[in-house]
Amino acid sequence: MVDGMDNSPASSQLEAKEFLRPILFGLAEEDLDVLARAAVVRVFAPGDVICREGELGDVIYFIVGGRVEIVKQVDEGIERHLHYVGPGEYFGEIAILQEGPRVATVRAVEPTTTLEVGQKPFLTVLGRSPSLGIRILVRMTDRLRDADQQAIDELRRANVELTRMLHQLERLDRTKSDFIRVSAHELRTPVASLMGYTQMIQDNPIVTEHADLRTLVQGVRAGAERLHRVFNSILDLSRLMTEGVEVRRSPVSLPVILRGVHTEFKQALEERSLDIKIVGVDELPFYIGDPDMLYKVFYHLINNAIKYTPDGGRITVTGKVVEASDLGQCVEVVVEDTGIGIAPGDIGLIFEKFYRTGEVELHSSGTTTFKGGGPGLGLAIAKGIVQAHGGLIWAESSGCDEEACPGSKFVVQLPLETL
Ligand code: ADP
Repeated sequence: MVDGMDNSPASSQLEAKEFLRPILFGLAEEDLDVLARAAVVRVFAPGDVICREGELGDVIYFIVGGRVEIVKQVDEGIERHLHYVGPGEYFGEIAILQEGPRVATVRAVEPTTTLEVGQKPFLTVLGRSPSLGIRILVRMTDRLRDADQQAIDELRRANVELTRMLHQLERLDRTKSDFIRVSAHELRTPVASLMGYTQMIQDNPIVTEHADLRTLVQGVRAGAERLHRVFNSILDLSRLMTEGVEVRRSPVSLPVILRGVHTEFKQALEERSLDIKIVGVDELPFYIGDPDMLYKVFYHLINNAIKYTPDGGRITVTGKVVEASDLGQCVEVVVEDTGIGIAPGDIGLIFEKFYRTGEVELHSSGTTTFKGGGPGLGLAIAKGIVQAHGGLIWAESSGCDEEACPGSKFVVQLPLETL
């Protein structure tokens, strides 16, 4: 009940009228009477929801005592505080003006008493008092402006925080990359010695004449070579990422490069019964770029095509000159396979360093075996090199499916005219 109000209806009505008078100042006596007659007193405990966002609203609330919080749902389970409202203020007018659902949730934060007035009497009075209409409009506009300002301030704060976190992540990423680079550098030297020594052991007559020993030493050498390749890839990538790359420009024959890569993988292709076709590359013009770097691009793309295509599959490498909308005239080389394909969610991420898809622990360890292991650096290196040449690289695939094998397509475009 309104403080000090006695229990007789006439007295309650009188008090409600006196309470509403300053809030709705300028209202005619008879209109105040209409509202006071319709007013119902309600009491809420802290935490009580007075009205809920989305529910239909057909009353307006005038706060007699206490305090309420107005919040809006921004996401599942996440609320955004809009403002607190206290004695002498009102809320809930928007839903009844719009004759629609509540636009926010209102919750009592203290023991709260309200006067509740129904839609019909309120709209009747409003229809007779343009000045009340204008005051409500002004108040709504002020609140909207406040809410806008609040949202802008929150966005600004979130932006500052995101920028700070981004810088922190960049710093951490640099520290991690430095650590990996230094480790790769330090470890590459003993691994190179290991390769040298195993070569010497391999050539020793005791080993050459002993089949078991030969197999063991070959195993050690293969492992050392693999480690050496991983360390080289890490160093390649860290050079590409940190120092920027110096592209040594000279005329490059792409057919020679592609055939070189083909030859390097000849044995693996045979072992895996993979058919490779290199189409149209002989007609390509000389490209002015860095031959060693470009070799690595196609090495990694063809190596991946081998790794992610089941035995008996097909790899097609196509070369042509195209007019690309972003780069102008380009050499375009496409490496396409009939392999497991790439899931849409992974396609934008596979060019990130150390990113590998699927269940990594299930990958086998060979570099050319089906789903063979790799450190997840090949595509990051390829991207760094292509970008250093001013070109573009991207992947296309309709999805990842080890049964249906939809295949993947990697496109490299190298501009002919920027050099
Ligand atoms: P990795 O050393 O793992 O091969 P890459 O950077 O070369 O690293 O490739 C990143 C990931 O992209 C791979 O782990 C693989 O999941 C996916 N990928 C690359 N090429 C292909 C391809 N031709 N078909 C299917 N998936 C591929």
